[in-house]
Amino acid sequence: MKPTRTDTQSAFRALPSVDEVLRLTGVRALATRVDAALLAAFVAQVVDGWRAEIRDGLLSADELAVRLMQNVHVRAVESLVAREERAGVRRCVNATGVVLNTGLGRAPVHHEAAAAMAEAAASYCVLEVDRESGERNQRDARLAELVSRLTGAEAAIAVNNNAAAVFLVLQTFAAGKEAIVSRGELVEIGGSFRVPDVMKRANARLVEVGTTNRTRLSDYAAAIVTSTGLLMKVHTSNFRVVGFTEEVSPAELAELGRARNVPTAFDLGSGLLECDGAPPLAERLGGEPLVRSAVQSDVDVVTFSADKLLGAPQAGVIVGKRAAVRALRDNPIYRALRLDKVALAGLEKTCELLLAGRGGEIPARAMLALSAQDLEPAARALAAAVSRIDGYAADVVPGRSEPGSGSAPGVFLPTFVARVRHRALRASALAAALRRASVPAFVRVHEDAVLCDPRTLLAGDAELLVRAFAEAAGS
Ligand SMILES: *Cc1c(COP(=O)(O)O)cnc(C)c1O
Repeated sequence: MKPTRTDTQSAFRALPSVDEVLRLTGVRALATRVDAALLAAFVAQVVDGWRAEIRDGLLSADELAVRLMQNVHVRAVESLVAREERAGVRRCVNATGVVLNTGLGRAPVHHEAAAAMAEAAASYCVLEVDRESGERNQRDARLAELVSRLTGAEAAIAVNNNAAAVFLVLQTFAAGKEAIVSRGELVEIGGSFRVPDVMKRANARLVEVGTTNRTRLSDYAAAIVTSTGLLMKVHTSNFRVVGFTEEVSPAELAELGRARNVPTAFDLGSGLLECDGAPPLAERLGGEPLVRSAVQSDVDVVTFSADKLLGAPQAGVIVGKRAAVRALRDNPIYRALRLDKVALAGLEKTCELLLAGRGGEIPARAMLALSAQDLEPAARALAAAVSRIDGYAADVVPGRSEPGSGSAPGVFLPTFVARVRHRALRASALAAALRRASVPAFVRVHEDAVLCDPRTLLAGDAELLVRAFAEAAGS
């Protein structure tokens, strides 16, 4: 029933002021958790919200009286305070089984890489200076050396992420010119990274060739004109075209580029490297292309993410021919895209681990290498621990983990998951309560049960997850 005019006026009169709310015991108790100005702002936010409801005829004087009696305003302020305390980047438990989960920060780095990053962050470091001569040098000189050893490339350069790498390549070779791409490779990666949009922003004119399912070398060749700046190939990371398909190999594209004097680029995305001493992943990941093979195909530049299958901190790596990489480095835009010292330190350390035959220790790679049998005991232990908490029932069922972040599309890794149900909570409500735990936990919801995949649990995470279940049952 819509409140009458007089009702609205009495509701306005009954609405407490910010100061009155601040004097309530329940609100005063919150003053230890946030500063006074912020607490007052939260109170004002609640009071203003209710005032707007009254004005819009959505809150009558009677309903307001009920809310005040039930301390709804105090609880609303408390939940704003609680949200403030939970905000920001912090540790969480990933029990989703999606190894490279962009929402959860993609690859957790090796502890030695993490230590190198912490040290670089907290101290001065030898970044852009040569220790012998004392002269200025390139910040990624060492990284380039390591990446060259790993990939066989002549040269390398590192930027903020792979999106920046692709942008730099397009902006360097195709600004004001044309970039030729197969229609089947004009992909959108993640929320907003669309190859055609990036091209536009890099001031490159997109020339699409072929069809969605078939593109031939002759299609590229016929499209080359004097204003062609780049022939580009994009690994269709997050989808797969099946059936009657044909695509041009990077080697064929490289040969065409050389014959017609047009630079060539291959955006690989995931960046899979295989090294001695680490379990090979290519086959497990459905034949995901290797960086080394892409380099061998002889395209001028290959771009990939460091925080996907390489398991390093966020970065974009560009490897390729010396002259092409020099052109990228000479582009003034590089300055805006270059990698920071912290990520650089972590990336160097990750490459060193790979070169030392310790690639199997890199968390994301180790997770991807685990078999279902490897994971079953952890799933059983988890289900047993959660079952012991009042209100829960848990069992173990086979499941499927995912590499994630568009690496290895359509590939699922067999696993065992702990399937958890709570007597009184729907699975979606339970998942929400787990996200609000003091160390938040992320799970999957399937058929009104919460599924926890041990594949993506790091050391100590199982205990944190069990604690999150206990907190969720209590909230
Ligand atoms: C993931 C991906 C990108 C974007 O890389 P970011 O490191 O997330 O910036 C670009 N191209 C391809 C093919 C990808 O898979």
